[in-house]
Amino acid sequence: MFFKMLLHYHYAGSDPAIYCRLDHFTLCPFHRDSDNQDDNDPLRSKLLLVFMSSLMSLFTHCPMCKENSPGRLRRTMGTFVEIDQNCKHCGFQRSWQNQPLIDKTPAGNLLLSAGIVFAGTSPTKVLRVLKSINCYTITTRTFLNHQKKFLQPAIKTVWTKNRNNIVQKLKETNKHKELVFGGDGRCDSPGHCAKYGSYTIQDLTINKVLDVQFVQSNEVPSSVHMENEGLVRCVQFLESENLVMKTIVTDRHTQINKWLKENQEHVDHRFDVWHLAKNSVPALKLNKVVSQKAFVRDVKKMSPSQQTYGVEVYHSIVNQFAPKMYAYSYTGIYCRLILAALHYNENSGRKHAKTSTGQLQYTVKFPKAKKGGHVVRRVNTAATYEYVTELLTETLRLCENNVDEEPFDVPDPLSSRWEKPDKREAVALFRSRFNH
Ligand SMILES: [Zn+2]
Repeated sequence: MFFKMLLHYHYAGSDPAIYCRLDHFTLCPFHRDSDNQDDNDPLRSKLLLVFMSSLMSLFTHCPMCKENSPGRLRRTMGTFVEIDQNCKHCGFQRSWQNQPLIDKTPAGNLLLSAGIVFAGTSPTKVLRVLKSINCYTITTRTFLNHQKKFLQPAIKTVWTKNRNNIVQKLKETNKHKELVFGGDGRCDSPGHCAKYGSYTIQDLTINKVLDVQFVQSNEVPSSVHMENEGLVRCVQFLESENLVMKTIVTDRHTQINKWLKENQEHVDHRFDVWHLAKNSVPALKLNKVVSQKAFVRDVKKMSPSQQTYGVEVYHSIVNQFAPKMYAYSYTGIYCRLILAALHYNENSGRKHAKTSTGQLQYTVKFPKAKKGGHVVRRVNTAATYEYVTELLTETLRLCENNVDEEPFDVPDPLSSRWEKPDKREAVALFRSRFNH
């Protein structure tokens, strides 16, 4: 039965009517039982890599009169392929497509772009991999178009929903009046030029990221103000949601310290032990009295129980979604920060994994710094990616409905501060000066 199905599958084409005329009604993929309905759902359908020669071997003969009638590659569009077959002997015609279209967009192309973004990987690398093995693929331009039209708006929608759910839960359990937050900033540009900075706040009791704010250096007087501006925006978000911050644990950032003291006097501001230790060891080594004094003063503000370890974990996830070595656009990085937050929020409460016999699982590692010594770590249950399914569903919905919207307010680019010369004029000047 299975063999027969495979043998006849190539008669299917994209038009169910053709198949049914061919006296294989019982095997027609478009009339199969409900358990195979997923085949046409772009989200659930399995995809496969097919060699062109293998594919064309299905289009050698006319399915009607069985005479010789080779198929012809009519057009390609990224990963989309269309093959025509016109029989000279009996006039039979068919057109076969390797994937469904969602409002003119090939589903496979959109899924490829979505997969790249939602897995937080590099489009340049993935597309180069496909090109290097001669696989039909989309261009960077198509990718960027998908990203802007469908993927980034989908990220915004899913993130808003995720955050609303968390806020709702905090209010239901009456925790919203005395929240304990951990906050930390990150410089999000490659190299030393601080073009972008982000600030993240995390509720430390339920261990979820509640807000990520993103700042471009030209939005503030200078790049050193980015971290503080990020926190200010986070606080504005909390206020807009009627969430009351009781305690915030941060690193020893002077501007933030000052701002909180002046503007949020009801908030108990603490320094987290981890940052305090990290920043103070070099200071103590230098044996500077001033630093020691500051250290002693700050120790008094040390957080008694809540640490921002979670924020550190979030930032390590961000490093996977938006490595600093790659330069992304403003919205590009912001979206990747949000993806990291979605990943964190879904996986922050992972349980201790057990073996099939019910034993708790541990792993023993030998870090280089321990010089032969070992550390024992608990093994967590595997990460889940429900948020990716949610993002894909939203992406397809946007594409189906042809929704076109700017997802985020983007500040003017840094270069807008300077007047841009006309390219033709600039080139003419360059050529006249250097005789090119
Ligand atoms: Zn024919």
